[in-house]
Amino acid sequence: MSYSNAHWRRVGEETRRMVAEVPLYRDRRSPPADPAEVDKWLAAVPPVGKRELRRGFPKSLVRENQDLHAAMRNEQVTLLATSGTTADRLQVIWEWSWWDPQEREAMRLNARIAKSMAGPEFREAVLTTPACGGGTCHFGSQTAEERRIDGMLFFNESADPTHWTDSECERMLREWREFAPRGVEADPAYLAIFARAALARGVRLPSPEFITLTYETTTRAMRRDIARAFDAPVFQLYGATEAGVLFMECEHGALHPNERHGHVDLVPLPGRGRLARVLVTTLGRAWMPLLRYDIGDVVRVAESRTCACGLVSDGPLLERVEGRQSDCTTVDGEVVTPLMLDDAIHAALGIRATLEQWQLAGDTLLVVDPASATSAAAAAEAVGALLAQRLRGERVAAIAPEASGKYRLVKR
Ligand SMILES: [Zn+2]
Repeated sequence: MSYSNAHWRRVGEETRRMVAEVPLYRDRRSPPADPAEVDKWLAAVPPVGKRELRRGFPKSLVRENQDLHAAMRNEQVTLLATSGTTADRLQVIWEWSWWDPQEREAMRLNARIAKSMAGPEFREAVLTTPACGGGTCHFGSQTAEERRIDGMLFFNESADPTHWTDSECERMLREWREFAPRGVEADPAYLAIFARAALARGVRLPSPEFITLTYETTTRAMRRDIARAFDAPVFQLYGATEAGVLFMECEHGALHPNERHGHVDLVPLPGRGRLARVLVTTLGRAWMPLLRYDIGDVVRVAESRTCACGLVSDGPLLERVEGRQSDCTTVDGEVVTPLMLDDAIHAALGIRATLEQWQLAGDTLLVVDPASATSAAAAAEAVGALLAQRLRGERVAAIAPEASGKYRLVKR
């Protein structure tokens, strides 16, 4: 372990308060006084998952000295639901004064983004489900002015970008041109659809100085089409509404931990792939602190702890975020992740692939590929070989998102 003594002291102090004050953690043993022993203690603390957070919410997560109703009346916190699928959906005690600084600090771990954010007239736009942009809701018809908060413009008003109408696309394209964002935060599926809409219309949009992708797993096809439409560097920002931003991708492609705001334990999964589950213990958070919370994703740990970008992190670096753990399959002792299926599809189709979207639904691989009638079968064969399973490829016109507005790669 390469964490500093100061880091462990802080983890010890904060978790001691969690155990003493938060009903959900009251039966945990208190951490040892010696910071050098906190590591071992933490590893033995039972993880909590979404189910535990849901049970007894919000009371089980409110510290004994806190008054939730007063905090809500004072608009210090709000209760909001995350935008996962039904099984994943969570309610969260959400505090803007916590969220905003930890997200900005995570973004600044990337030197290029830090420079852009420090520049004059920095302005950011957000393209995601209307339900999950910064804890506010943007459904329905609002003016661009009504969708602007703290200098950020929220483009989207519709929960189903598969069926964005021409007029919605044109409104967003126009707003993008007029606003000319310096930074863009986007759901990769949404931005890829938006990029294709711009390309299909021959519209050249002003390129931002950077794009961060978050909210769901990024496939190769999404990255390809975003890169075609925008001459901007694209970085992964990995986090969750209930846990904050955990990792930020740097200019050299490594994901660095946002470790002033959370301690992450990576629990290795079977196989040779350096895959791990992510358990997070939040730091510096007054409301809804998390102690060994299993975020439900699988990540690939980087081979090295050092990075050419020069940013020194105490904790481990990630190579990429592989997808949801419930979407993984174990074949011959090896965990196969959604992004490994995506790798196999693109290895089979080659660099000229025109496939836009895929979804594994039971024993059928659905493929959206307007330019090719044969890619569905080839993609299904590649995925079937990886999963040791017979799959049928089916070319479809569209794949709909879940009710939450998020797309799923694997559906059982
Ligand atoms: Zn780096």
